[in-house]
Amino acid sequence: MTMSHYIAGRWVEGQGNDCISVNDPALGLPFAELMAASVAQVDQAVNAARQALPEWKKASAGTRAAFLRGFAEQLGLRREELIALQMRNNGKPRHEAEIDLDDAVATFAYYADLAEQLPEKNRDVPLAAPGFSARTRLEPVGVVGLIVPWNFPLVTSAWKLAPALAAGCTVVLKPSEVTPLIEQAYGQIADKLGLPAGVLNIVNGKAETGAALSSHNGLDKLSFTGSNSVGSQVMRSASAQCRPVTLELGGKSAIVVFDDCDVDQAVEWIVAGITWNAGQMCSATSRLLVQDGIADALLPRLQQALENLRVGNPLTEEVDMGPLTSQAQWLKVASYFATAREEGLECLAGGKTLDRDGWFVSPTLYIEVPEDSRLWTEEIFGPVLCARRFSTEEQAIAQANDSRFGLVATVCSTDLERAERVADALEVGHVWINSVQAVFVETSWGGTKGSGIGRELGPWGLSAYQSVKHVTRCLG
Ligand code: NAD
Repeated sequence: MTMSHYIAGRWVEGQGNDCISVNDPALGLPFAELMAASVAQVDQAVNAARQALPEWKKASAGTRAAFLRGFAEQLGLRREELIALQMRNNGKPRHEAEIDLDDAVATFAYYADLAEQLPEKNRDVPLAAPGFSARTRLEPVGVVGLIVPWNFPLVTSAWKLAPALAAGCTVVLKPSEVTPLIEQAYGQIADKLGLPAGVLNIVNGKAETGAALSSHNGLDKLSFTGSNSVGSQVMRSASAQCRPVTLELGGKSAIVVFDDCDVDQAVEWIVAGITWNAGQMCSATSRLLVQDGIADALLPRLQQALENLRVGNPLTEEVDMGPLTSQAQWLKVASYFATAREEGLECLAGGKTLDRDGWFVSPTLYIEVPEDSRLWTEEIFGPVLCARRFSTEEQAIAQANDSRFGLVATVCSTDLERAERVADALEVGHVWINSVQAVFVETSWGGTKGSGIGRELGPWGLSAYQSVKHVTRCLG
């Protein structure tokens, strides 16, 4: 057992009810275990964050920025170790684990810059009315609970921690029980940098620990990334106390390919959009809309490209795609293969689990999928692509928007005017044109409709942890 919880600046053993197994998904075997934090320990963590708030709130912008730069630097120094752990616990191929690490470093560096600019944002407000002056103060929201999933643990936590600390909030982070080790690095770095005790607390655990945090009456805000079902429970807890939430939830995103595309280039974007992180991305473009004129040329090439992908253990083989990260996810994806068979869907590639140790599935392509199929409408969270054809731009937009989710989309066309027009018409939070899913820290992340509430990254990510105050003075 390890000292897995960081509360009030100290590492402590869990006293909760759940024992958490940490697995290597490529072997389907555990390599570590820890005890979850108890409800009382969650309470201690929230209280520690509350006690640390007044001093951290008062810390200068420069002080906060220096700590954030320290996080970026220390992550960089631990690069190899953190990449290896993501490969082992998440099953990520090396190049993907590297990008995650770089993304986390860039996030801390970016919010260090924004923290430094904070004093300029606290400024006088010109008033039309005579006799009064007014000034703005951007204050930290307060004590924030951060609950995250397992698919991009280092990154998702960085997207919350860095802006929250930059704004002057104190936090309690609850990582996913599937990947509870990687974010311990944030506590270790806090220790090393001498971050004041209680500013950053980490409690590990399953649903019981998450629910104890999200319903705790000592929080001022909860920021959650995860599934829609848990997101709605988190929102219910927040509504009971009328406090704000940010929710980053699921998706069922479209990739729209027009006739004028280069087939090989389009195949590359489509494959990346569904097989990166073995398709375990909220932003997976799992609905392919392909225009009639290119479909017959594109679909066989896509089939070939998916079948050619090297699937295997990232720690021992050169791979394009690793295993699914948990057995539960593997069973879930397998259940969709069964549903596809029951629905009589036409399978061009994959559609099966791999006959080897670990939690592997083949990259999968179903075509002519009916729009009421469960595979077309539900988030699967695996490398499972469903395709349909369209003939006009209007049809493509209508089909892409016909979803209860609205996270992202990709548009592929050499007619850039059309691509921009379609991007504007899509009901989502982020659109890529002729690109893989490049995410930059300066742009926003978040969805419309059932994909959530609020935005992360960019200045919007910082605003999510700020409260606007105005001070108006009568000059008379
Ligand atoms: P999940 O909802 O099962 O778990 C997310 C977190 O919530 C975990 O830390 C979990 O322990 C905790 N939790 C579980 N029950 C809880 C409860 N009752 N109260 C409070 N917390 C609880 O999600 P997951 O399986 O870890 O992640 C996959 C989901 O996350 C997918 O739906 C995916 O689309 C979504 N996701 C969204 C984004 C985004 O930015 N929109 C990013 C990554 C993942």
